[in-house]
Order: sequence, then C-alpha cells, then structure tokens
Amino acid sequence: MRLFEATQHFFNEAADQLAVHDSLRDLLSTPLREVQVQIPYETDSGKTACLVGYRVQHNRARGPMKGGLRYHPGVDLDEVRGLASLMTWKAAVVDLPYGGAKGGVVVDVAKVSERELERITRRFIDGIHDIIGPDVDIPAPDIGTDQRVMAWIMSQFNKYHGFNPGVVTGKAVEHYGIPGRAEATGRGAGILALKLMQRLNRDPRETSVAVQGFGNVGSHVARFLSEAGCRIVAISDQYGARYAPQGLDVGQALRHVAQQKSSIKELNEGNLISNDELLEIEVDMLIPAAIGGVVTEANMTRIKAPMIVEAANGPISPEADRYLNARGVAILPDILANAGGVTASYFEWAQNRQHYRWNLQRVRSELERTLTTAYDEVSAEADARNISLRLAAYMIGIRRVAFATSLDGMN
Ligand code: GLU
Repeated sequence: MRLFEATQHFFNEAADQLAVHDSLRDLLSTPLREVQVQIPYETDSGKTACLVGYRVQHNRARGPMKGGLRYHPGVDLDEVRGLASLMTWKAAVVDLPYGGAKGGVVVDVAKVSERELERITRRFIDGIHDIIGPDVDIPAPDIGTDQRVMAWIMSQFNKYHGFNPGVVTGKAVEHYGIPGRAEATGRGAGILALKLMQRLNRDPRETSVAVQGFGNVGSHVARFLSEAGCRIVAISDQYGARYAPQGLDVGQALRHVAQQKSSIKELNEGNLISNDELLEIEVDMLIPAAIGGVVTEANMTRIKAPMIVEAANGPISPEADRYLNARGVAILPDILANAGGVTASYFEWAQNRQHYRWNLQRVRSELERTLTTAYDEVSAEADARNISLRLAAYMIGIRRVAFATSLDGMN
C-alpha cells in the first residue's frame, strides 16, 4: 500500500468513529492544491540537467499550510500527498494554528555537489515562489534538507517578495532561526517515548531501545533517551546498524559521525547488523526514525518490541498496524510522536514575525508543555473509548479541522 492510501485508511477509520458525513469527508481528504514543477539547472561540468519537484497543499482550514521539503530519490507525488495530509492532522493534534503541506525533489543529495544543490533549490523556489509565503505555506527541513537549504529558500523567495524570514523555518540560529529547532523532532519523540513508558509502568532505566536512523531525528532521540537512563542497544544509518545488548555509547557514536564524517557501520562498538535486522531484535522499545514503510506485512510477525514510537513519518503500514494492535503492542503514532519539529517551527515562525528570540531553555520548556498537553488529550481519548493511540490522535485532529472547516463555510 502506498503512503497516501495508508494515510487515507487511518483517516477513514477515525472519520467512521466520528460519523463524518460524506461531503465533509471528501473535502477533508482531497488536497487543496498539487503542483509539479520542472527544475532545470546547470551541473558543475556545465551541462543542463532537469529534475522534478512537488508541493502539495493539503488543507488550510486552521491556518497557513506548513510542512517540510524532502530531497530523496524515492520522492513522488503519492508520497508527498500522503506526507502533506499527515501534516494537517499533526498540526491539529498539537493544536498549532496551521494547515498541512509538504514538498519534495526527486534527487539523491549524495550525488550532487553543494553548489548544484544550491542551484537546484533556487530553481525549485523559482517554480513555487508564488504559492508559498509566510501567511500561505511555510516549508521546513525534512529528509535530505537542512539549514543551508532553508537559507537558500529564504534568499530566493526574498528576491521576489522582499525580505521576510517567516517564509521558511528550520533556519540556522545565526540566520533568523532559534536555538532548539534542530533537536526538536528527536527531543519531542524522546519526551513522548518517556510518556509511553510511564503509561505502561516501565522504568526508563530498565528499558532497552533500538533507534533506526541517526540523522536529524534519530541522533537526537537516541541522545535524549540515553541521557534519561535508557539502554540504547541498536542504532543505524542508511548503510547499516550496530547492535550491543548491553548498550551502546551514544555520545561516542555522535562524536564518531560528527568528527570522522563516517557511518554507523564503521563504529567500533557492537555487532554489525542490517537495518531490517534492527527492526526485529529483542528490545523493549523500537523507534523508527528514518524513512516510511519499514514495518509491513512482510516483517510484522517478527517484530518483538512491545512499544513502538513513530519518529519517522508513516513507518508502519495499516496491515501491520492492525496486526500489532491486536497483539497488544503500544504504538505512539507519527502525527503525535514526531510533532516536536513542527511545534518548534511554529515557535521560530512566531518569533520571526515579532523579531524576538527565545533562549534554548524557553524553547525546550514550551516544547515539552505543548507535547505533554497533546499527549494527555490523546491518551485520555484512547482510554475513554478503548481505542489505539493512533485512532485517538486522528480523531482529535480530524475533529479540530472539521470544526474549523465548518466555521469557514464550504461556499
Ligand atoms: N518535516 C517535519 C515534519 O514532518 C517538520 C515540518 C515543519 O517543521 O514544518 O513534521
């Protein structure tokens, strides 16, 4: 099942519970606008090459649309559409005044130079500048993009529309960003992982954790949970994983990756295993924090973790979700588990508009407060109705968006 169909499946399950009528259901599941643009650019060798980029704007009932930009060879319209709809429900679950959007470029960032990446980004913005903006649609980082890409987006957008740092979030702290945005998705997933442990009466110091992915999200969630006393037994990047049942030194892994610009595979600790094997090890908590679609019908029966935190977007297919739920696995869904990123993006955007900057401590405490409130609401809904956390999160998100839509009127 492709991502958009999977997100529609979860949406429909929750819409059934809420008895959302058909016309509203259609309105909430049809994206507002989908744009595909050609990205012609000059390679370093002087040739002209051409890529394809997308921006899907899913829903704007609750505010300007918000969502990251993914640079990855696997990007296509279906994936971006699915990710855009996840952003709508995610922003609503944590009660941010945003709608949902997402974008992407079909490119392997490992195969282009930094100068080429800049030209690709600027040409992409040439193609979509008239549909984004601080009050309309605000991009941010996702897989394959970072603060450099955000700086180029801001600079290119400003050439057309005049200076406005609020057009994009995830910017460098020294360049209209805020402290704590880079760590926010991982830190947020870590804060919520501790809540899930508490829900199941598990002591963090007696909890083993496997984290798939060691990038923008995985590295921060691994560090946060290791500082909270958890035993991080496996970590990975796209090249492979390291596994040590007695626990890995996360600080050492962070230094290894930062200083040697080397992969987890070359880490001098634990046994080398594959990313697929990491998902299936004997562990208390599994945290997929990389790409989507990693737990499916193909491997669901071999997943042993009793707790899963979806730090990635869309890591579990609907079939696997149904199976794992029936087995009693506690799953913290993506639209809540990784909402720390967009929450800190909201702080950044609001501060850009006020020309005021919070310090790290304030960003962290507001992040914790926002996510804790959302978690308490989702867990109360799940308990009251005896349903999964995913269904509860979707129900809260859909209810809020449906209410705003009905106030907005349909005509
Ligand atoms: N790409 C991130 C996500 O999937 C962050 C989006 C944002 O900050 O707008 O939630």
